[in-house]
This record gives sequence, C-alpha cells and structure tokens, in this order.
Amino acid sequence: MERLILFDIDGTLTRTQNGYLPFNQALFTTFGIPGDIRTVVPDGNTDPRIVQDIFLAANVRIEGDPPQWEEFAKTLKQCYSDAVKAGTTTVRPLPGAAELLRALSQNGGFGGSVVTGNFEQIAWVKLKTAGLDRYLCRGAYASDSPHRPDLPAVARRRWEDFSGRAISPEQCVIVGDTPKDLEAARTNGMKCVLVGTGRYPVEELLLHSPDACLPDLSDTSEVIQTLKCL
Ligand SMILES: [Mg+2]
Repeated sequence: MERLILFDIDGTLTRTQNGYLPFNQALFTTFGIPGDIRTVVPDGNTDPRIVQDIFLAANVRIEGDPPQWEEFAKTLKQCYSDAVKAGTTTVRPLPGAAELLRALSQNGGFGGSVVTGNFEQIAWVKLKTAGLDRYLCRGAYASDSPHRPDLPAVARRRWEDFSGRAISPEQCVIVGDTPKDLEAARTNGMKCVLVGTGRYPVEELLLHSPDACLPDLSDTSEVIQTLKCL
C-alpha cells in the first residue's frame, strides 16, 4: 500500500541555532514593537500563533490582519536568508533526515511532503539550507491556515494534485516531534510517528500514545520498516 509521509520540519527534520535573531528582527520591522520568541514555547505552533503568544506575553495587542501576516512572512524570509548567509543563524538536518528522505524518494511505495507551522517561504529557506528541499513535494504551511489541524488535509490534496493519484487519510503518516503534530494527525484520521529530537523526550511523547515513537531518524531501515508496518 502506498503511503504519504508528511514531515514536520523544526525538531523533526532540522535543527536551527539562533533562529530567534531573524524572528525577533522581523517582528520589530513588521509590527514596530520589540518582541522576543524566547518568551514563549513555539514548538508545534504555527508562526502566526507564535507571534500572537509573544505579544500576549508582553501584554501588547496586535491586529495581525492578512496583509500584515504577508508582510511579516516576507520580512521574516529576508531576515532568515540574511542571517543564514551571515552565519549568525544555522539550520542543519537532524541525524538521518537526509538519508531517510533520499531512501523514501527512491522507494515507489512512499511519497514525501511536509506539514509545518512555518510560513511557506521560511519552510523552503530552512529545507534548502539543510539540503532537504529536493526530496519533498509542496505540502501545507502556516500560510494556508494558522490552525495546525487544518494543514494535513491541504498537504494531502496537494500531493494528490501533484501525483495524479488518490490517497486516503489512513494511508498518510505524520512524522513530528510534539503532541501538536499528533493532534493534527488524529483530527485528520492519519497515523503519527513521533521522534524525540525536539523539546520532548521519548518518555513524554509515549504518554500521548502515538502509533510509534522513535528516539531519532538515524536508522533508515528501522524508520522505513516502522512506516510500512503502521
Ligand atoms: Mg516541530
């Protein structure tokens, strides 16, 4: 049976160092108010919700209407690209991520895409910087909806359009690093594998009863076997 694997990015495929620098800079440039992403827990959240949490923590009200989000995404992409070029921010693939994506792309039984809380432009900057973009189809992003559980269905539809084949939710597996990834999978009737490479250790992730839990993605054949057997 064919499977569509929908990968989360941060903490699952990549790790960013000093991502707060371009994020905070884009906040100030767009909204004219200093805010700090380090004052909130961003893991598993979408970029617009992260911004709202930051300003809520600082007791500041923002409008955050659609044009402003577009402006923020554009500015964030520029700030991120500049920071990566300058080397002040780094984005690296997590152990095994590149090998796994390469193996899946060469296996006719799998499709690979993303479901992420990043705005689309930022997702591509991160994936390109980590050398992972070539293996993944266009998925679903915070640009599609700030509500993460809305995103898996968007990614599934885009994959169907791209491949010309139908795929059911039961054939889709979300691979993520937070309980929010699991919640998005369950809302959409999809399977979920959680990995302990983000903020949450495996012991804590197991309490949420995902379909499978792995310490990381480093053992390519074990991961593929896990994905096949779900
Ligand atoms: Mg994540």
